[in-house]
Amino acid sequence: MTQLQSLRGMVDLLPEAMQRWQAVEDAARRLFQRSGFLEIRTPLLETTELFCRGIGEATDVVGKEMYSFSDRGDRSCTLRPEGTASVVRAALQHGLLSQGPQRLWYSGPMFRYERPQAGRQRQFHQIGVEWLGADSPRSDVEVIALGWDLLASLGVGGLELELNSLGSPEDRIAYREALVRWLEQRADQLDDDSRQRLQVNPLRILDSKNKATQALLDEAPTLADALSDASRRRFDEVQQGLDTLGIPFRINPRLVRGLDYYGHTAFEITSDQLGAQATVCGGGRYNGLVSQLGGPATPAIGWALGMERLILVLEAASEADPQGPAARLTTRQVPDAFLVNRGESAERLALALARSLRQAELAVELDGSGSAFGKQFKRADRSGARWALVIGEEEAERSEVRLKPLHGDGEPITLKLADLEGLITLLRR
Ligand code: ATP
Ligand code: MG
Repeated sequence: MTQLQSLRGMVDLLPEAMQRWQAVEDAARRLFQRSGFLEIRTPLLETTELFCRGIGEATDVVGKEMYSFSDRGDRSCTLRPEGTASVVRAALQHGLLSQGPQRLWYSGPMFRYERPQAGRQRQFHQIGVEWLGADSPRSDVEVIALGWDLLASLGVGGLELELNSLGSPEDRIAYREALVRWLEQRADQLDDDSRQRLQVNPLRILDSKNKATQALLDEAPTLADALSDASRRRFDEVQQGLDTLGIPFRINPRLVRGLDYYGHTAFEITSDQLGAQATVCGGGRYNGLVSQLGGPATPAIGWALGMERLILVLEAASEADPQGPAARLTTRQVPDAFLVNRGESAERLALALARSLRQAELAVELDGSGSAFGKQFKRADRSGARWALVIGEEEAERSEVRLKPLHGDGEPITLKLADLEGLITLLRR
């Protein structure tokens, strides 16, 4: 029989990798807690309509990348390609916005039918924040700082914040016209993809990776020139806020982001840790989305970071600096004690002892192999535990447990099994 395989672009996360994942998730959860953001979890499966309306039909995500299918009730369903639309849907559905601004965060798998490569998968994971009801330039700064500080605290090196303003919807309409007019006169110099976008989503051409198109765009009118005074003032205030916090940034007039709902502040945080600059976190302001999904006009800002890309960056950082914070993230979890046991009654007692110690919040690895003591002691050494707890036939008969220090050369100690308190105190020391 052929060995079954996971689907292309769907990746297993094995226990060894999970240490780093959990460390990142813990750090994020703690930072969000300290910053007044509350967790929200939404379904992986939503109506297709949510993303068509929320993200925009002309985007790559909706146009080419969604996993959509009809369920048995003939409803068109889509595996969520991103988190923002779902969070807004949930906030509206449960009336959260009537309780005032919502600072929310989420984490979990997203699905996009893309060509898999390093840091790009079909099921991937994001951690994101959404602040619904936040209007001031200060809220932009606070949200950007949250992403920046999270990455910095994890030990991601070579961080760069790229910033742009997409202006108001009116600014964008004016700019779009100017850009299309300019590009139409030079359509023969555009790559095929960009020529197509000229009709459906011209702003996305700014984002083209095609070298010739990029060179052409150097001459093109920029969004910055099209901003109204109010939009420009707003953008200045965001920049001043970042200056005040000492967060360096680079204005990138080409940064437009892939989803239709962004306006005013757009940003990406990249790292050079993988050689080339890789985008780890992206986000921006999306004042139009809530009303687009049927809610009251509500300003909002958020970001999402890609876990797989962040993990790649952290792996590179920890290789570059084995003593640095990124390397310490994966410090192996070591049990407090390793329980060596052999013989029928010894094994029974050991099972009960491991349970009692775990109930006392101690980490105990119980050797369940029944193999020779020598082999069990080898595993005890490898576990990194400070103590081996030993129950053999003799100990079992005397209702005792022997503690053998595994680091250094301390003397073994023998305790009565009944003296659980004494044992716990010793192991906690
Ligand atoms: P890209 O230009 O790389 O396709 P994007 O603009 O589509 O990125 P966003 O929708 O802004 O990405 O998602 C935010 C982050 O999620 C990205 O910066 C990236 O780190 C991560 N991400 C997006 N798509 C994938 C994917 N297919 N696999 C892994 N990570 C992804
Ligand atoms: Mg993409």
